[in-house]
Amino acid sequence: MRTVLRVLVLLTLPLLATGGDDPMGAWGTLSPDEQKEALSFAEEYKRFINVSRTELTTVREVLAFARAHGYKDLFATDKASPGDRLFALNRDRAIALIRVGRKGSREGLRIVGAHIDSPRIDLKARPIYSSGGYALFQTIYHGGIKKYQWSSLPLMLLGRVDRKDGTTVYVEVGMDPTDPVFVIPDLAPHVDRDYRSRTAREVIKGEELDPIVGSLPGTDGVEKAILAILAEKYGIERDDFVSGELSLVPALPPRDVGLDRALVGAYGQDDRLSSFCAYRALEAAGPPERSAIAFLVDNEETGSINNTGATSSFLKDAIARLIEIEAGEFGENVLRNALKQTQVISADVTTGINPLFAGVQESTNAAKVGHGVVIKRYGRGQDAHSEFIAVIRGILDKEGIAWQTHTYKVDVGGGGTIARFLSKENMDVIDMGVAILSMHSTFSLSSKADLFLLYRFLTAFYEGEGVGGR
Ligand code: MN
Ligand code: MN
Repeated sequence: MRTVLRVLVLLTLPLLATGGDDPMGAWGTLSPDEQKEALSFAEEYKRFINVSRTELTTVREVLAFARAHGYKDLFATDKASPGDRLFALNRDRAIALIRVGRKGSREGLRIVGAHIDSPRIDLKARPIYSSGGYALFQTIYHGGIKKYQWSSLPLMLLGRVDRKDGTTVYVEVGMDPTDPVFVIPDLAPHVDRDYRSRTAREVIKGEELDPIVGSLPGTDGVEKAILAILAEKYGIERDDFVSGELSLVPALPPRDVGLDRALVGAYGQDDRLSSFCAYRALEAAGPPERSAIAFLVDNEETGSINNTGATSSFLKDAIARLIEIEAGEFGENVLRNALKQTQVISADVTTGINPLFAGVQESTNAAKVGHGVVIKRYGRGQDAHSEFIAVIRGILDKEGIAWQTHTYKVDVGGGGTIARFLSKENMDVIDMGVAILSMHSTFSLSSKADLFLLYRFLTAFYEGEGVGGR
């Protein structure tokens, strides 16, 4: 508690002095009470992101939150009334939380979509092998990683294995500080001369991302010894990995960053940061005018593929079901008409200006960490239409929420997220989020002020009447 109070003093004094002009960024727009709220919201976020390290564990957390707050299964309910709380679970890898609006969902909805998968390393179907007296895992990475960041780093193993008898084994090794971890061994500078000319992308190659799983020889060799531990502790045999989804993620806990504690450092903030804000804002909002959905989706980092990714028909199916149980009837034309009147915020983090590499951004159009909610303007036909952006600006300014824009430096980089797949369904979709540092790394940095402002903005978006209808 003492520490928290000291932080408040640090953050509050300069604000009173400057009156919150631009150099103070988003913090300068928050009253002392709001700053306190932002700091405590960040503590809840750190608790969430510590245990939500894959789509499976994130869905588990969000579902537990939903059940604790009275959300009922959409697909096991046959009636919905304004104010009802519902959830739609998609194969334990994606989830939508829903608040039923005063207006029928057939008149359009307010949706926030965010992804819950992050770049990581997965085990192959036949992962276990031995080399040089060590047992190792063969792996294949998920999403765009800088591979060198993953060596010499404690990794935890998370996921599930489904056995032929229909039972599921949940694996979580490395979360508890007393658990063992897994490490991809790097070369010492004493012996790496032949490797020094490798380019940045190939310092560690994809097939060199195999962590050590064991080193005790046992009577039949290290590989058999590890298989014996797997059988004894988890009831998993070699073939069971074929029907397993096991991921290696950094085993580091979230931490405050900097003496002023203004930043959160954590693995997986892309994009469990927006995901957290999305479902917490849905719950914080009052009973909404229009039905509101926090849609948390898998596989964005690999192209939004598969039936749990944003290209799946799952969201549409859930909306169809919602309309059906609200009105007692349903038609494809009713769904199409609802989608046409729906507004979506595709929330995702983006790359903030890095003080060490500022040149990779075009500073007049680049987003800064700690400077508020970001409206993304990618250009090249990807953006929300100007009239929808104007609606969003209206909400931000009415709520007094600090905001900025982001456009990538031309011909240098780029990015995109689930917006394109949702807009395909004739909904109005805008890309927004917050800026972070070290995006797609093993430990990225976000601003507690930005986190809080995104949460507040999404709350206002859900609550607002908006300007639906075309
Ligand atoms: Mn993302
Ligand atoms: Mn990403």
